[in-house]
Amino acid sequence: CGIVGYTGFQDAYEVVINGLRRLEYRGYDSAGIVLDGKEDHLFQVAKTKGKVDDLVAISGNLVGKANVGMGHTRWATHGVPSDRNSHPHLSNNGKIALVHNGIIENYDTIKIMLTEKGFTFQSETDTEILVNLIQYFMDTNPETDFPEAVRFALNEVYGAYAITVMHDDYPGLLVVARLGSPLAIGLGNKEFFIASDASPFVEFTKEAVYLEEGHMATISLENGVDIRNIQDNLKIVPAVQELKM
Ligand code: GLU
Repeated sequence: CGIVGYTGFQDAYEVVINGLRRLEYRGYDSAGIVLDGKEDHLFQVAKTKGKVDDLVAISGNLVGKANVGMGHTRWATHGVPSDRNSHPHLSNNGKIALVHNGIIENYDTIKIMLTEKGFTFQSETDTEILVNLIQYFMDTNPETDFPEAVRFALNEVYGAYAITVMHDDYPGLLVVARLGSPLAIGLGNKEFFIASDASPFVEFTKEAVYLEEGHMATISLENGVDIRNIQDNLKIVPAVQELKM
């Protein structure tokens, strides 16, 4: 299972697909990609049970379409391997996209709560509750911005996760977080990479930040990498490492 994210100037489709291939050794049963649709800012999603090659076979139309995106290879824990259970998962309003490696242990109680509030679910995954919980926090308080809503949602779940999240109203911005699953951020020149390990981006940059347990980061070309403690929002000074690969 693996995660790849990109914001910069390159073709996001190429960076994400090639990155997913480098993570194939980790094992997976499904693959998916979402791109920020530039002018109209509508997400373009492709996902399928099977291999990265199967994903490429259904998503060739996305080549050259965006400079921001993320991809996922899934190792199913909740819900069978299927197209519908593949990541990314979108929130009910279609504005938030999320990829996740790991397990949300208390997904069932949150699913009941969200269902009572009128949310519906397209998949059997634990992951889909998280993307809708983020929407829920933004819906219920208009003061809550996207990264803050991600933080609020993460404080309601327990389990293990590495996630990357995009919001349609926040073009070019990626929010990532980790607890129990690895996530690395590659620092390029006017571009940033996210990946489960550094292999997807080592050809582009030798500078990386390995996100630590219980930390999240808001990443954009405008503001760089802002790392916080998920629990209390305390700002963390990133420890940049030189990759020797
Ligand atoms: N628990 C999630 C699912 O079953 C993520 C699995 C993974 O780590 O890829 O969809």
